[in-house]
Amino acid sequence: GRPARPHRDLVRPSSMAPCHHKLNPPIRIMQWNILAQALGEGKDGFTRCPLDALNWQERKYLILEEILTYRPDILCLQEVDHYYDTFQPIMASLGYQGSFLAKPWSPCLDVEQNNGPDGCALFYRRSRFSLQATAHLRLSAMMLPTNQVAIVQTLKCRGTGRRLCVAVTHLKARSGWERLRSAQGADLLQSLRSITSQCGGGGSVPLVVCGDFNAEPSEDVYRRFSSSALGLNSAYKLLSSDGQTEPAYTTWKIRPSGESCSTLDYIWYTHDALSVQRLLDIPTEEQIGPDRLPSYHYPSDHLSLLCDVSFREEPHRLM
Ligand code: NDP
Ligand code: CA
Repeated sequence: GRPARPHRDLVRPSSMAPCHHKLNPPIRIMQWNILAQALGEGKDGFTRCPLDALNWQERKYLILEEILTYRPDILCLQEVDHYYDTFQPIMASLGYQGSFLAKPWSPCLDVEQNNGPDGCALFYRRSRFSLQATAHLRLSAMMLPTNQVAIVQTLKCRGTGRRLCVAVTHLKARSGWERLRSAQGADLLQSLRSITSQCGGGGSVPLVVCGDFNAEPSEDVYRRFSSSALGLNSAYKLLSSDGQTEPAYTTWKIRPSGESCSTLDYIWYTHDALSVQRLLDIPTEEQIGPDRLPSYHYPSDHLSLLCDVSFREEPHRLM
C-alpha cells in the first residue's frame, strides 16, 4: 500500500499574538511548484526517484490530496501542464475559480508525448471572493519579452468588502541567469505597483505574491522584493526564531549533476496591511528521506508553502 502522507504542523509565528477573528477569518494561501509531468518524466533526471512515483495517474492524487488536506482559499501553482484535463475541472467542482497562463515556449513541448505547455495557475474560492480584475503578464527583461509569465488578480472578499491583489509567477531557472531573474522581478514589481495603486480608493490594495523565484535569498531579485516600495515581507521568515531567516530549503533533489538543496519559493505579503497567523512547517531532512524529492511521499521536487494571513486593523486613513 501507499505510505502515509507525512504530517506537517501549522505553527504560529513566535512574534504573533493570537487574534480573535470570528468576523474576519484568515485567508489561507498555498504556493506550490507541482513539477510539470512532462519535465519530471522527461528532462529533470531525478536519479533517486523511482519512475513509478512519477506516474501521473497516481501522482495527481497525491497533489490533490495535499491541496484538499489544507483547503486553501487561494492556490498558486507553477509547472502546471494538466490544467484543462485535471486541475480546472476538479477544482471547479470543489468551488474554485481558476486561471491559467502557459509559458510562451514551455520546455514541456520538447518532451515526447507531452500534455501541452506548462504554466502558472491561480485558483480562488468562489464563495469567499469575487473577481475584480485579471492581468496575464509575460515578463520582460530590459524591455525584451522572456519565456516567463505571471498572473495577477484583484479579488474582493465577499464577507468584508476588502480587496486583495494576488500574483503567481515562476522565474527563469538555473545558475548563470541571476541578472535575468532580477530584471524579471523588476518588471513584475513595476506591474504590481501599477495594478495595486490603480485600484482606486486612495490607499493601495494589499498584495500577496507567490512564486518559484528560482533564486536563493542571497540573490538580487530577492533583495529587490524585500526592499521594494510595496513594503513586502517574506512570510516563511516568520517560521524562524528570529523572524529574519528563510527556511533552509523549499526544494531538494538529486540529479546526475549532484544534489541540490535550496530555498527558491516564497510567499510575499504587504507587511503594513496583512499579518501572518499560521505557517505550515517545513519537513525535516529525516522526513524527506535519503533519496530526497520527489518520492512516493512527496509528489514534487518542491515543497508546498502555506500560510494564513489576516487583514490588520484598518489603518488610520485620511478618509
Ligand atoms: P528554465 O531554464 O526556466 O527551466 C525550465 C524548467 O526546467 C523549469 O521548470 C525548471 O524547474 C527546470 N529545470 C531547472 N534546472 C533544471 C535542470 N538542471 N535539469 C532539468 N530541468 C531543470 O527554462 P525556460 O523557460 O528558459 O525555457 C528553456 C527551454 O525552453 C529550452 O531548453 C527550450 O527547450 C525551450 N525554449 C524553446 C524556444 C523555441 O524557440 N522553441 C525558445 C525558448 C525556450 P525549476 O523551476 O523547478 O527549477
Ligand atoms: Ca522544475
